[in-house]
Amino acid sequence: SRIPLIAGNWKMNKTVAEAEQFIQALLPKLYATDGADVALCVPYLDLEAMVDSTRGSRVEVYAQNMHEAPNGAYTGEISAAMLTEIDVHGAVLGHSERRQYFGETDKALALKVPAALDAGLKVILCVGETEEERENGETERRLRHQVQEGLEKLDTDRLGEVVIAYEPVWAIGTGLTATPEQAQDALSFVRALVADRSKEQAARTRILYGGSMNAENAAELLALPDCDGGLIGGASLDPAKFVPIVEAAV
Ligand code: 13P
Repeated sequence: SRIPLIAGNWKMNKTVAEAEQFIQALLPKLYATDGADVALCVPYLDLEAMVDSTRGSRVEVYAQNMHEAPNGAYTGEISAAMLTEIDVHGAVLGHSERRQYFGETDKALALKVPAALDAGLKVILCVGETEEERENGETERRLRHQVQEGLEKLDTDRLGEVVIAYEPVWAIGTGLTATPEQAQDALSFVRALVADRSKEQAARTRILYGGSMNAENAAELLALPDCDGGLIGGASLDPAKFVPIVEAAV
């Protein structure tokens, strides 16, 4: 009963002109993919053009970050109101690259998640362990910390609105996909963490896998009982690679 979500995360790729080219190639190819939600998480400066180009289509447009405050002295940051003013649908929050390179913390995410939802934005909250944490047997401890802290300030009856993306850091951009067993173990563990607060909400929460997902491995991963979609990096930059993943989800 959970509708699958295939979300592309472009990261710092595509100028507006390149984004326009992508979307004109993508939209006609999506005709046979009713039954899956499709989102593109794009650089801030691409947002307005992408919102306009996808209007009336099934593609939703997400930002890749958002500040938790409504406004103020936060040089370089973007608020929820700035995103909703131009009809952006959502934001991906807590991506491992933001945690790793830009000091994103679970404490800030605890504020960002409710701030985004209150503003009417959808949220994809990213969690995942590093290679070192997995080798040291700390995967579950890490995931528990990230999920519990990230959702800490969110009312229990809204937990099911959040999409959680499980992205093992060692699988991102490496071509090393988690095995189906590793992915299912982590995805079901994440769902159990939500269920600790509400079983009913946990049954609604969509949990995505991310990390070197592509047209070849998507079907197997998407068939896992607790996998409700994918967060796709590299393979989301080319419609010919992205559309087969959407097709695998329906
Ligand atoms: P890749 O699909 O390039 O491994 O990236 C995954 C990712 O980080 C999506 O957010």
